[in-house]
Amino acid sequence: TFEIIFAGRSNVGKSTLLNKLTGQNVRTGKRPGVTLKPIHLYFDDFLITDMPGFGFMSGVTKEKAEDVKNNIVRYIEDHAGRIKMAVQVIDGPAFLEIVERWDARDEIPIDLELHSFLLEMNILPVVAVNKMDKVKEEEINDMLDQIALKFGYAAPWKESGLLLAPVSARDDQIRPLTSTLKNEIHKMRRDDLFKYF
Ligand code: GDP
Repeated sequence: TFEIIFAGRSNVGKSTLLNKLTGQNVRTGKRPGVTLKPIHLYFDDFLITDMPGFGFMSGVTKEKAEDVKNNIVRYIEDHAGRIKMAVQVIDGPAFLEIVERWDARDEIPIDLELHSFLLEMNILPVVAVNKMDKVKEEEINDMLDQIALKFGYAAPWKESGLLLAPVSARDDQIRPLTSTLKNEIHKMRRDDLFKYF
């Protein structure tokens, strides 16, 4: 099984993105944070796992938010062998603000923690920067550089080694993500094949 997980804070547009990507409707009629369990769907020959949205939101206690995070970590540990990639969905325009807020409290945002954890587990993270329709064309590059820096990489983002895919799920502009996934899957399968020679 080739598994790809999707993770992100609540409300970043993860369901919308998955819907556009797979044509399948996930987590319809959900209430934020209520679902603790990952949801599976099959797409081509991949297993796609939609992780519950994390982070604090109204109507969700701190304990519940903590549970969601621990569940995600446990799921990844339990299935590390077959999870090859993780799409970390972020709300582009909101992300930098959220990081500032956490920085001010001397805490590490869950997205960044998760990123390091994925690397440790040998899972390739791809950061889907969603809601790019809200960003002015001339500000996009600078914003992506800043995001790369926050994830601990260097600018310019294109040479940073971080796989960033700016998308707008709402407007069905998801090519940067689909082509990144395609490329990386292709590379992995090729490496897999060559290791037998
Ligand atoms: P989830 O909680 O991460 O699954 O987020 P949803 O897919 O439910 O989306 C949360 C909100 O963001 C909804 O109001 C969506 O319509 C909106 N949204 C999703 N994708 C985009 C996008 O690309 N651009 C904009 N402007 N809004 C989006």
